[in-house]
Amino acid sequence: MTKAMPTPLSGPKSRAAFTAARKRIPGGVNSPVRAWSRLGGKPPVIARGEGAWIEDVDKRRYVDYVLSWGPLIHGHAHPAVVKAVQDAAAKGLSFGAPTASETALADMLVAAIPGMQQVRLVNSGTEATMSALRLARAATGRDLIIKCDGCYHGHADHLLVAAGSGAATFGEPDSAGVPAAFAEKTLVVPYNDAAAVTRMLKKHKGQVAAVIVEPVAGNMGLVLPQPGYLKALRAACTAHGTLLVFDEVMTGFRTCYGGYQRIAKVRPDLTCLGKVIGGGMPAAAYGGPRAIMRLLAPEGPCYQAGTLSGNPVAVAAGLASLKLAARSGFYDRLGKRLTGLISAMAKQAAQHGVPWQAAQVGTMWGWFFSDVAVTDFSSAAAAHMERWAAFTRELYLQGVNVAPSPFEAAFFSSAHGKAELVHTLAATDRAFAAAARV
Ligand SMILES: *Cc1c(COP(=O)(O)O)cnc(C)c1O
Repeated sequence: MTKAMPTPLSGPKSRAAFTAARKRIPGGVNSPVRAWSRLGGKPPVIARGEGAWIEDVDKRRYVDYVLSWGPLIHGHAHPAVVKAVQDAAAKGLSFGAPTASETALADMLVAAIPGMQQVRLVNSGTEATMSALRLARAATGRDLIIKCDGCYHGHADHLLVAAGSGAATFGEPDSAGVPAAFAEKTLVVPYNDAAAVTRMLKKHKGQVAAVIVEPVAGNMGLVLPQPGYLKALRAACTAHGTLLVFDEVMTGFRTCYGGYQRIAKVRPDLTCLGKVIGGGMPAAAYGGPRAIMRLLAPEGPCYQAGTLSGNPVAVAAGLASLKLAARSGFYDRLGKRLTGLISAMAKQAAQHGVPWQAAQVGTMWGWFFSDVAVTDFSSAAAAHMERWAAFTRELYLQGVNVAPSPFEAAFFSSAHGKAELVHTLAATDRAFAAAARV
């Protein structure tokens, strides 16, 4: 008897389009996770999106919980966002000169993030974190930074450092092409371990410019900060003259209006934003108190620039998205709907006898096939990967799009209504059944 071939995850037109892509684009993708390497399949090639749904070139439709990796809090092609983009585009795509709309976006960000008095707009989260750390180094005159194992802060050289060989060692590059001399400036500690940060700050007394952290970790799956963790980081940084940088590129305007810092009641020195603030267009930002921000060129000695920074079309998409999100009860409404979905999924998992845990903050969520509490990267990596793969494959076949990696968060939008939830729960029931067979 021959072993049955697994059902292909994407249709014939997608497979052909992806083969063509691979000829001209490394791996067929412009960002690695899109290649679905972990599932061994070829990804669907997307033709359009509307509301909570995306449609591929085979006209297969999926309820989308990736949402462009977080930005699309109002779903795909929201009419108000599309209109704002069209209106802005008709007036000129880019000027490389001051515009009133970029000040309007800066005003909204400053109003939403306590402690942020000024903000610089950039094009990507990578630029935001890279620039914030340069600024932290300029402000402190120190070179070292501390980051957490499993936290992702974009692909700048100093930040492409993950585990090294444990908390006490210097970081090792996570990518070829990163000079060891750069990676050595990055110290790595486990997430949710404030004592490890304090030990590191003591060991390298007077040398650490910044601690950078995702206040809710969203790049090792979704991992919540333990109670008191962020406050302890704040105290340790203050005691050592080290700046605390919150990378809220994912959590900003996702967990609530503003940053997760509002929920945690912890004030970082610098905040990085991206994703939702661009509404699906390339816009990101970093900001903090005037006393630090004034060190940036042209006022100060710390250089940072961008041909397309504050791009009027991207800013228009961001402004329109934030205005929609600022309506009263927005995050509450979405959060409650998502909580309902998660508890229905938890019931299904239990019915199928599959150990499964989920976490949610506002409109961000994630899950692990594990029965031990996931608090850091090593516990995330210890989850059941075959079950995750079986579950995820079945979701695609049933028309639900989630991240093709166990180390990514899921998202939710105002376009996910009753019909989408019914469709999703029918799919998850079959997906848990598939996971139970592993
Ligand atoms: C997505 C992300 C980044 C990188 O943003 P890009 O726009 O992809 O460069 C940085 N930090 C966090 C926490 C992110 O989730």
